[in-house]
Amino acid sequence: MRKMVSKPKRVFISIDMEGISGIVDWSQVGRDPQEYGVGRKLMVGDLNAAIEGALKAGAEEVVVSDAHGRMRNLQPEEVHEGAQLVRGSPKPLSMMEGIDEGFDAALYVGYHAMNGAKDGVLCHTISSRTVDAIYINGIETGEFGLNSALAGYYGVPSVFISGDAAVAEEARRLVPGIRAAVVKWGVGRYAARCLHPRKARALIEKTVLEALEKLHEIKPYKVAEPVEFRLRLVTPSMADAAAVLPYVERIDGRTLRAVFNRYPEALRGLRAAITLAATSEAE
Ligand SMILES: [Zn+2]
Repeated sequence: MRKMVSKPKRVFISIDMEGISGIVDWSQVGRDPQEYGVGRKLMVGDLNAAIEGALKAGAEEVVVSDAHGRMRNLQPEEVHEGAQLVRGSPKPLSMMEGIDEGFDAALYVGYHAMNGAKDGVLCHTISSRTVDAIYINGIETGEFGLNSALAGYYGVPSVFISGDAAVAEEARRLVPGIRAAVVKWGVGRYAARCLHPRKARALIEKTVLEALEKLHEIKPYKVAEPVEFRLRLVTPSMADAAAVLPYVERIDGRTLRAVFNRYPEALRGLRAAITLAATSEAE
């Protein structure tokens, strides 16, 4: 059983980029050098607001995992000095590197909805080029679901998310009571009505503080073990490439399936399949 804590001592933050305030296009998350520079500034702005909220809630240790692309988006010197930064890739727990059972809460900043979500700004699941959909125990799952289940495996509740309205709804379906700071409302995959970044930061700070004060209301999100994943790729050639993994079963032209006893192993098995699938180019 998890002990009740009145104040969170250790807070973990996983930060992606597509759900950052003001961001609506791939150019801003890496494809264009100049636009990417603007995106990075917006990213650290949202992050520092979340760190500030965590410190106001009494956190003594804040660990931030840079979780986008090559995971070197945050400029260390611009990050609030009250936090430690995990950066670079690849690493064992990927977007969640640094999490362990000693954390009191996990926060998700700048997250985006799963591939195919209506009005999900820059929606995708792990890789827009390679992955069509991921199902965990039969439930279609996006990056928030995959990562919050890892936090849950370690007994850590996921209490806060920031991003667009679509990812907030996705998170609430899995984690009832999670606090969400909605910083933009998608009007398509590459367009949104956005809060001013300063308003977004104020909302993030306030919502993180509230979430951490009400920490005990949220249970860790766990998936039942053994865990079945199904991975539907974009093309059959991608499934051909990943089907060499000895633990996968081919279900149809584009879909692979596997079962693992433990959730972290399932996540690793899934990542390995996606990495291999990506070696086969789409036409
Ligand atoms: Zn990303």
